[in-house]
Amino acid sequence: MSNERTNLLGMTKEELSGFARGIGEPSYRGAQLFNWLYARGATSFGVMTDLGKTFRSRLEEAAAIGGLALQARRRSERDGTTKLLFALEDGLRIESVLIPSAPAVRDGDAAGEEGEGRLTLCVSTQVGCPLDCAFCATGTMGFGRNLTAGEIVDQVLAGGREAGKEITNVVFMGMGEPLLNYDAVMKAAGLLTAGVGIAVRRITVSTAGRVEEIRRMADEKRRVKLAVSLHSAVDATRTRLMPINRKFGLRLLMEAVEYYYRKTKQPLTYEVIFFDGLNDAPADVARLIALARRVPSKINIIPFHAISFTHPAPFAASLAPSPRVEEIAGELRRAHLTVMIRTSAGEDIDAACGQLALSLHGRERGRGEGRNRAVATGRRAVV
Ligand code: SF4
Repeated sequence: MSNERTNLLGMTKEELSGFARGIGEPSYRGAQLFNWLYARGATSFGVMTDLGKTFRSRLEEAAAIGGLALQARRRSERDGTTKLLFALEDGLRIESVLIPSAPAVRDGDAAGEEGEGRLTLCVSTQVGCPLDCAFCATGTMGFGRNLTAGEIVDQVLAGGREAGKEITNVVFMGMGEPLLNYDAVMKAAGLLTAGVGIAVRRITVSTAGRVEEIRRMADEKRRVKLAVSLHSAVDATRTRLMPINRKFGLRLLMEAVEYYYRKTKQPLTYEVIFFDGLNDAPADVARLIALARRVPSKINIIPFHAISFTHPAPFAASLAPSPRVEEIAGELRRAHLTVMIRTSAGEDIDAACGQLALSLHGRERGRGEGRNRAVATGRRAVV
């Protein structure tokens, strides 16, 4: 795509109206473009037949739509989970993961809200991630850059095209820490609701615990759902797993969570991976119960996928899934907490986000193609 052309994907209706005026068209063209881009998912101006030939040829000269190029797709034979590897315009790569319905179990049954017909897309918000969680492959790959709102929305539109049906749920849980890219993430969420038509309650932003932005979400009364990657209710353990806990420890995090709940009245989700011998002892579970009771919430127990392929540091390499997950879920339920055990979506296609990018990166590095580097994350492809 030519650099001189303006990329329209990621623009709001008002911005599109301004663009239309800038090329000598009336403002209402903005609403027409908005509808074509987001509700109808147009990938070329040629299909916008109600816009008139002259306007369309002006658009061809002055504008472009998106810029993601699908480079690879890998579908799980086991559960239909599909990983999509996209190249961005600057050659960096990101992954999105399509997750069909019902990857969760609650109280022994398929969880109702996760039922048939649901198609979730796990989207990336950054190329790589600077937060370096021990259980995540990203730490070995580093941080590239923030994605634009257009690049985030483009993942959803392209994901829908790949799936051949509409995406019903979006989780900002792929590569990157969404709240470090706050403005683009919130703008993308707005476009997904107002433009693409995904209900706001079906959009979840998952954070490693960026306290300032959790408070900002509360102040701005954001209606997207909030999930917090918790992993331990013990500061020392959480710091080992998630270095962000050094800056925003559990006291600050929970004060922000309480503030968020007071302001929005929206329950939130805690995500927890239980590791053998690290955070799965009865005392750990008791601390988790006490913490989770502070505001209305549910707990998602996420399976751990080995990330030894990334040659992580010894602590990360020592992490192993807890054999006590079912038992712990029972303890949490007896404490009247809502618990979901996520099934291991796409395990047979390396469900840790980024492995596809990483394997390609490895091959390219072997051929000396360093510039087009891939960045990977081990964030789980489950929601
Ligand atoms: S788990 Fe999330 S926040 Fe942590 S390093 Fe990976 S992508 Fe970043």
